[in-house]
Amino acid sequence: MTEPLDHKLGQPSSDKAGLGAKPRASPRTKRSPYSTLVGVVSSDSTTVVYGYPQERDGVEYLQVVPLTCRGLPMPVTGETPLKKCDFSRMREVLWWHGVVGIAEATYPHPQGWTFAELETPIPLHKIRIRHLTTAFRNSTTVLPSCRRGWEAALQIEGLPWHLVYQRLYHPALTSRDRKNNMRILNRSLSTRSWSDKSACCRLCGGGRDRLSHLSECPVMLKLFSCFESPPSPAMIYLGLRKDLSPLTGSDAVLYTVLWKFTLISYTRVDCENEEFDIGTVVRNTLRRTHVRMEAMSGLLKLELERYRSRGEANIDSVLARYRKHAHPDFSFDSQGRLIAAEAAIEMLRAAGCVVTANADIPVKPLLTDEEEQDLQYHYSEQRPRVTAQRTALAAALRKEAKAHDEARKSSAALALLRVRSRRRSRSK
Ligand SMILES: [Zn+2]
Repeated sequence: MTEPLDHKLGQPSSDKAGLGAKPRASPRTKRSPYSTLVGVVSSDSTTVVYGYPQERDGVEYLQVVPLTCRGLPMPVTGETPLKKCDFSRMREVLWWHGVVGIAEATYPHPQGWTFAELETPIPLHKIRIRHLTTAFRNSTTVLPSCRRGWEAALQIEGLPWHLVYQRLYHPALTSRDRKNNMRILNRSLSTRSWSDKSACCRLCGGGRDRLSHLSECPVMLKLFSCFESPPSPAMIYLGLRKDLSPLTGSDAVLYTVLWKFTLISYTRVDCENEEFDIGTVVRNTLRRTHVRMEAMSGLLKLELERYRSRGEANIDSVLARYRKHAHPDFSFDSQGRLIAAEAAIEMLRAAGCVVTANADIPVKPLLTDEEEQDLQYHYSEQRPRVTAQRTALAAALRKEAKAHDEARKSSAALALLRVRSRRRSRSK
């Protein structure tokens, strides 16, 4: 056993070996000017040499060091040459991973500049070949005619097309869900006005049957009023809010699927002589949205399984990514099971979806405030009332039940007829 250490309780001993001694950060010493790498332009202004300033017997020197292929200075050895050089000729260098060049002669600075042709500004120090390719392509191409057409029709210049397509390529959607919405984006919807300019709207019978009428059509206004009240033309055609922010999460899925079933019913009005029914459209939209969200839940369960099989315990980032895509109507619990938000449960059940009650699953908030802050977007979450859709849905469900009942009655009558005819043939 050694001698007890000489110290007072709570105070470190002079040699910092006793109780209460905490490692103290050594005070920052000012870096010697001789250890700072500098650059010097050669006297014929053709090359730049790098090195450390040195002073010996009042004479100023440069200890020349070559750079590696990554721009880092080689270590100084005994053989490193010393060259006479006035300190006034030495210049500060610009670092970015390695040495880029003399700071005052290097332009532009990689962290403060980007290409104007890029839709999302990525600073030069993070740029990849694909960004350069996009910048080059954007500088030589013109906007497709459909995009120019939408900018002229909506009278908004510079629409954020990358956000429109970001909404369309939501991971829960398949190409079949996107196809009909693409028709609107590409302005390629076949309307009655193609053959007859004065033909009336097939939905309301009021205006002309053309693409530009859809934003004024009362039927379409009623359908899209769940996203904005009243929905603007940019919302109806492109899914952009008044501040030109896109619909995100489950709203993006709901919107794209709503266009899918709207256009299916819209086409069947003329092709199959069917009536356009808002309730049927809403019911099919809700069912399809729920199916796609269940599919996402399946993917999440697989991904969680993979994570756990690798022994990785931290699954929060995976959950946060999936929850971001399902917010605000859905969420996933830590097992990857789908949870519907309180407001959405009633509508989903009315549309015939089998929704797990939240009481069966340990309740988790959809997103905490911190998770909300981590999201890249901060858009208003105000949802307009959906009374119109709810009444239409109830009417459609009544109609469906009536049709089922009639089908049942007619099949029962048919079976009775067959039994009677069989008896008759036997008695003969
Ligand atoms: Zn109309």
